[in-house]
Amino acid sequence: MRRELWKISGHEGFYSGNMYTPMELDDAEYRLKPMNCPGHILIYKNSPRSYRDLPVRLAELGNVYRYERSGTMHGLLRVRGFTQDDAHIFCTPGQIEDEVVACIDFAEAVLKTFGFQEFKVELSTWDPNDRAHYAGSDENWNLAFSSLQRALERKGIAYKTIPGEAAFYGPKIDVKLVDVLGRLWQLSTVQFDFNLPARFELEYVGEDGERHQPVMVHRALFGSVERFFGVLIEHYAGAFPLWLAPIQAGLVPISERHHDYAKKVEAELKAAGLRVEVDDRNEKMNGKIRDFANQKTPYILVFGDKEESAGSVSVRTRAKGDQGSVPLADFIAKCKELVASQSTEL
Ligand SMILES: [Zn+2]
Repeated sequence: MRRELWKISGHEGFYSGNMYTPMELDDAEYRLKPMNCPGHILIYKNSPRSYRDLPVRLAELGNVYRYERSGTMHGLLRVRGFTQDDAHIFCTPGQIEDEVVACIDFAEAVLKTFGFQEFKVELSTWDPNDRAHYAGSDENWNLAFSSLQRALERKGIAYKTIPGEAAFYGPKIDVKLVDVLGRLWQLSTVQFDFNLPARFELEYVGEDGERHQPVMVHRALFGSVERFFGVLIEHYAGAFPLWLAPIQAGLVPISERHHDYAKKVEAELKAAGLRVEVDDRNEKMNGKIRDFANQKTPYILVFGDKEESAGSVSVRTRAKGDQGSVPLADFIAKCKELVASQSTEL
């Protein structure tokens, strides 16, 4: 995005240490975007807004680029270019608390869906002794902080206040989840912002017919999608529940003459919406089973003459091993039920 935009937003001053060197293109200087906010602000500004339009909620999976020192890069968990599930909500000051509460509910619902049960919440604010790193007046910072505080109290959520950890444009609520090994991961964030609306001179026409300035909420649920996947893989140690597993069933024909039946089984499972893979390499059956087992594939289906003539599959589950032969239709029905209920059972 044009460098001019980052000057208006304040990123040039407050955030340039995390940004890549400007590049000259045909008509102007540009910088890789470290955040999506100014883009959403331009969309908001593109048409006149009235109080009846608010809240305006804009969301995208946005690619952002932030400078990280090479020593700090770490697998999927810390990268220099990533995808944020980013949203910005433009609303009246009176709507802010409800919007923040709705964001916290949304974050909770998403994280619980993926199987995380335990969270720690932090309310990060500025350090009043370090004015140089934060934009805006004392009054606005106090107002923003108390709005977030009220939202948390309304939800009855216990939180810890962390001074000096806010974004330069406003305080934020960070939701950190606790994984199976008790490690903390920063994922969801809800931020209050009065600065960018002022810097970009955002407006809406109020009920009184006058021009007013909206406030903004920045929120991300996964945070970085790449990092979220990293955390998810760690949390399940690769053994995903059926609904999440990239390959839900591995198909193992015992010999080459069962390849036609393998195609039929594959087609039926795929038609039922399941993700499956046939191992039709010229390898020993036990080797194929071992390979699927090493990938922690939830189900391994083995079949030979007996299964083919009965229209069945011999089922092995990741947790319980060999379960014997099951009619294919029964296996499909069970999988559909487990996927629909997002069960962790097999
Ligand atoms: Zn933002």
